[in-house]
Amino acid sequence: MLALILPGAALVLGAVVGSFLNVVIVRLPQEGKSIAWPASHCPRCQAPIRWYDNLPLVSFILLGRRCRACRQPISWRYPLVELLMALLSLALFHRFGLTPAFGVYFIFCAALLAIFFIDYDHQIIPDLISLPGIPLGFAAAFFLPQLSWQASGLGILLGGGTFYLVALGYYLVTKREGMGGGDIKLLAMLGAFLGWQALPFTILASSVLGLIAGIGAMLRQGKGGQSVIPYGPFLIVAAWLWLFFPGQIIILYLYLFR
Ligand SMILES: [Zn+2]
Repeated sequence: MLALILPGAALVLGAVVGSFLNVVIVRLPQEGKSIAWPASHCPRCQAPIRWYDNLPLVSFILLGRRCRACRQPISWRYPLVELLMALLSLALFHRFGLTPAFGVYFIFCAALLAIFFIDYDHQIIPDLISLPGIPLGFAAAFFLPQLSWQASGLGILLGGGTFYLVALGYYLVTKREGMGGGDIKLLAMLGAFLGWQALPFTILASSVLGLIAGIGAMLRQGKGGQSVIPYGPFLIVAAWLWLFFPGQIIILYLYLFR
C-alpha cells in the first residue's frame, strides 16, 4: 500500500507546487508585483478564481479549459507547468526515495522550472532565484551523502568562472553579447547543486541542444534572422538529464571516449 501512497503523494505535491510556480512565472518578471497578493484571478476578465476552480490539473479538465466567469480559454501553460513539476517530483522520488536529497533536489527542480519558463518568455534569468540558489546548494552539500562540499564549491567557481570566460571570449570575437550574466549565475547555481563533475556534460549537452534549436529557428526564419534564443532552458534540460540519467551518461562517455 505504501508503495502506492508515497509516489502518489509525490505527484500531488509536485502538482500543487507547480500551481504556485505558475504564479511565480507570471508575476516575478513584473516589477513590483507581489507573489502572494492579490489572490489568483483570470488574466483576461480579472475575475477571482475560487479555490475549487484552482485545483492543479483537475480544475483545468473539469472547467473544460475555460474560465468560469468569461468562458475565455485558459492557457495550456498552466496545466503544463503543473504536470511537469508533478513528473519531476515523481522522478525525484524514484531516484532518491524519502531522503533529504529528495527535499533538496525538489527545491532545485522547482527553481529550475520557474527559470525555464521565465527565460523562455522574457529572456531573463531572475537573480532572485539563481543567486540564493548558489549558497543554498553549497549548504545542502554538507547534509547530502551524494554531494561533497568540495565538489559543490568547485562547481560554483568553475560554473561561474568558465562561463564568464566563454561569454567574455564570445563578446571579444563578435562584439555581440551571446550569453547574459544571468546564464553565468545559473551555471554557478547548477554547479552548487550538482557538483563540478556535472559541468562538462551540462555545457556540452546544452550547446548541442542550443545549436539544434538555433539551426531550426534559422531554417524557419530564413537567413539573416537574429532572433534571440534564450540559453537558460537548454542548460536546465541538460542539468535534468545529468540528475536523472547519470548511469546512462557515463556509459555514453565510455562509449565515445574509450
Ligand atoms: Zn475570465
